[in-house]
Amino acid sequence: MGEATSKDRAQPRYDSSLPALVEQLLLNPASVLTAAVVFGLCRSRQTSFTELVNPWDLPLLWWVAAYALLRVALLGFVDGSVWVLGPLLPPLPSRTGPKPVFQHRINAMDVTYLTINSAIEYVFTQQILHLLWHAPFIVRLPAGLGLLNGPVAFWLLLVVDDSMYAPTHRFMHLPAVYRYVHKHHHRNTFPARGYIDAANEHPVEQIVALSLHWVAVHIVALSAGLHVAAVGAHFGFKALGACFNHTGYDVQLRFLGIDYSVRAHETHHRKPNTNFAQYVMFWDRLMGTYRNYESGQPKLAAAVEASAGQGQSKPEPDRLPAWADPAVEASAGHICEGPGTD
Ligand SMILES: [Zn+2]
Ligand SMILES: [Zn+2]
Repeated sequence: MGEATSKDRAQPRYDSSLPALVEQLLLNPASVLTAAVVFGLCRSRQTSFTELVNPWDLPLLWWVAAYALLRVALLGFVDGSVWVLGPLLPPLPSRTGPKPVFQHRINAMDVTYLTINSAIEYVFTQQILHLLWHAPFIVRLPAGLGLLNGPVAFWLLLVVDDSMYAPTHRFMHLPAVYRYVHKHHHRNTFPARGYIDAANEHPVEQIVALSLHWVAVHIVALSAGLHVAAVGAHFGFKALGACFNHTGYDVQLRFLGIDYSVRAHETHHRKPNTNFAQYVMFWDRLMGTYRNYESGQPKLAAAVEASAGQGQSKPEPDRLPAWADPAVEASAGHICEGPGTD
């Protein structure tokens, strides 16, 4: 225990005190700007804050009950899927070495962000259900489901959403911007806790990402046409994708230009200026930011290269490449690989 404690001390400290929380949440230019944009949008649409957070006009008790119900349903769906599918999946090559992967402890800042983000998810879910129920440009009847507004629209939602998300994500990594919003999500160099690590981000980031989702729904609906089933499938696919992206399971899905792999997102956490997209890596290839996965384990990397026949990455002499070295990561303000924790 004594050894673990001394090594814990070697990890960069992350200030989760109340003043730090207030500074990050409220005295943050990104938060002020987001609040101003939301306020401006509400004013221009003559929507009150109450209508924004409660579009179905539910009584308070029902509103709270629906929040609890959604929490249980969402966690059951994403964490349940990880729980059921996880044992059937291989681990990422980076997670199979003798050294355990360090996980930072969940602190007060994390809990606050996760709580606020769960409320934002709830409001967004209410708003999208309201849109699906009322919008004239959404097809709702089962008989109205077709190739274009179903499978094609689902594919388009992924492509359009990621085409906006990838550059936005890259913008959040600009040195002048990074510390205000996105830095928190990168506390984890090897995310492993699924939903908790996926949703552990500054609330502004959550609002921005869900706004892009909202815009993508409108773009696809008004161009190709959109059936409610495609919106549901996209929502579910993204929820699962975000969750698995923050586990150590080696999930890879490739079809029709969709290129989802947990490897790509782990690479992003290990080498933050790469792989900004999550479902369509074409956007990274276009921006010149795509990076192949490197396990850091020579034998495994060689086996992967041999079996794939197209691997371009050079095996590393150790499990962690130089840029994921604890000392390097610590000097960059990141927390990374550490010994002897879960
Ligand atoms: Zn992430
Ligand atoms: Zn990032």
